[in-house]
Amino acid sequence: YRHGEASDVVVSTPNGAITFGENHPLVVVAGPCSVENEEMIIETARRVKAAGAHFLRGGAYKPRTSPYAFQGHGESALNLLAAAREATGLGIITELMDSPELDVVAEFADVIQIGARNMQNFSLLKKVGAQEKPVLLKRGMAATIEDWLMAAEYILAAGNPNVILCERGIRTFDRQYARNTLDLSAIPVLRTLTHLPIMIDPSHGTGKSEYVPAMAMASIAAGADSLMIEVHPNPKKALSDGPQSLTPERFDRLMQEMSVIGKAV
Ligand code: PEP
Ligand code: MN
Repeated sequence: YRHGEASDVVVSTPNGAITFGENHPLVVVAGPCSVENEEMIIETARRVKAAGAHFLRGGAYKPRTSPYAFQGHGESALNLLAAAREATGLGIITELMDSPELDVVAEFADVIQIGARNMQNFSLLKKVGAQEKPVLLKRGMAATIEDWLMAAEYILAAGNPNVILCERGIRTFDRQYARNTLDLSAIPVLRTLTHLPIMIDPSHGTGKSEYVPAMAMASIAAGADSLMIEVHPNPKKALSDGPQSLTPERFDRLMQEMSVIGKAV
């Protein structure tokens, strides 16, 4: 991660090539935690697109704490993401949880997400490193910066140079008011250690929708290259992560607020 030549990750989408990198405009990834049904994913895609997002996110395979919680709709959700991509031209980011699904996720995703819980699943990292789709590597909830960069190194060493790092909050002693502690100092720290693009996820980082806008604004001010924000048309009814999801209206307003800060490029 210290010797990469190209510092940017360029992803082709139906709307054109989008570049994640220090000297490029902010890339915004938005969408629900889980793909729930066709209507909600198409509606969310249209609304985040209208607000200015570049990628649609949405889980088909969900890593849930409880085995009895909604686990995602799997392959049928990937088909719904394809329909949303077709309808809006947005690129698709979705999580790969296990290697049997690698081929099908790689077929539908423009960027493959590796979640916090799999950050040190080294065999999975080697497998996404041996294929061509860019990889979004979320920070493990108890991972040091060094652990995280070495996890990225597994992907790079296996031959895939296109890795985006995503800070999504870490576990600290205080979980009373926020789900996780969003480590914004990771931004300037990573900048000194790696050429890889840096994304911040203030939704999982705080766990509460009312804290998301402030942390999104702070992420840009601190130099983030990209943001991932959970948006749901009806957060109260969401099958996962409703409390941290913005409504499309609030997301639209946040996009306008963020444009005032802008990204120094
Ligand atoms: C998600 O993006 O919905 C998710 C499960 O993220 P994380 O791996 O950061 O918990
Ligand atoms: Mn989520």
